[in-house]
Amino acid sequence: MDNARKNGSVVYSFATPHERGANPLYINVIPKFRCPNRCRFCRRGDAINGKPNIYEKKAGTSLYLRRAPKVEEIIGEVRAMVPGMSPEFLGYIPEIAFVGLGEPLAQFDLVCETIRALRRAGHVGKIRVDTDGTIKCMVAAQWDGCTRAGIDPARELEAAGLNEIRISVNETNSDDYDALCRPCFRNAFENICSFVNDCVSERIKTFVSFVVNFADGEVRTKSPEEYTEFARLRFGLRPESVIIRDYMASEGE
Ligand code: SF4
Repeated sequence: MDNARKNGSVVYSFATPHERGANPLYINVIPKFRCPNRCRFCRRGDAINGKPNIYEKKAGTSLYLRRAPKVEEIIGEVRAMVPGMSPEFLGYIPEIAFVGLGEPLAQFDLVCETIRALRRAGHVGKIRVDTDGTIKCMVAAQWDGCTRAGIDPARELEAAGLNEIRISVNETNSDDYDALCRPCFRNAFENICSFVNDCVSERIKTFVSFVVNFADGEVRTKSPEEYTEFARLRFGLRPESVIIRDYMASEGE
């Protein structure tokens, strides 16, 4: 069944109202929508089942990949997405973001290699990753494309050339996180918080995000004010670095 399914897009682009006129180029490196979490609010299930889902509709393309792409394939597609421009004009793309349905940093080595290749090719603009933040767990478990145990993920991302990271923290303590996001790793929440602090220390522009207005039985999200205060106390982040996503308008990641 999977082999019969058509391969979707590695590089895609669409306008986002939240980006204030920016039109990032998105890179999808996620094979089969893989993610170590099963968040209750996630729309990824529709995509896994091959059903229309809001994020792919908005992107205007399928994001299903049978396998993770190679670095050369990604760079080739990025260049092809810049109409009429030769490779040296890669430097004029304002923003490139690793975002897909699932967890991009599960392909950690590939993401770092691609960032380095983009910088070598002349991209001087922003490079961003949107992540569930469980990278320290994935590295420890050598989960999926995280093949090197013992590395410092934030330091490697910064050294590769990453400028910005958006981390889905989604809760304020371990029990609530486990109930809402159902990670496959133990101690996921503490590892996420540790990774947020690492990114701040590495001076990567760091945003934390929280979904609000979601309820599933007794599992309920908190208020924007509670999440914003948590981000201030735990990470020293200002309100401008806190992204609140309304569940009704949520498109998954
Ligand atoms: S919302 Fe993000 S982290 Fe949660 S299951 Fe979906 S893709 Fe994974």
